[in-house]
Amino acid sequence: MKTKPCVLCKEEFEVLYRIQIKKGKAWIFACKTCLEKHQELPNYKYGGTWKGKRH
Ligand SMILES: [Zn+2]
Repeated sequence: MKTKPCVLCKEEFEVLYRIQIKKGKAWIFACKTCLEKHQELPNYKYGGTWKGKRH
């Protein structure tokens, strides 16, 4: 099982969401909690889910 750190809260997660919270092309990986905090920003964009578990 692989984990990745959330860019915003620095915790490790097995599932992260690829999002944009600023204008431009910078994608970041954020956990569900951080995603929900930024979901209402005008520049928020969802780009998919990253999962450490593969089968
Ligand atoms: Zn987070």
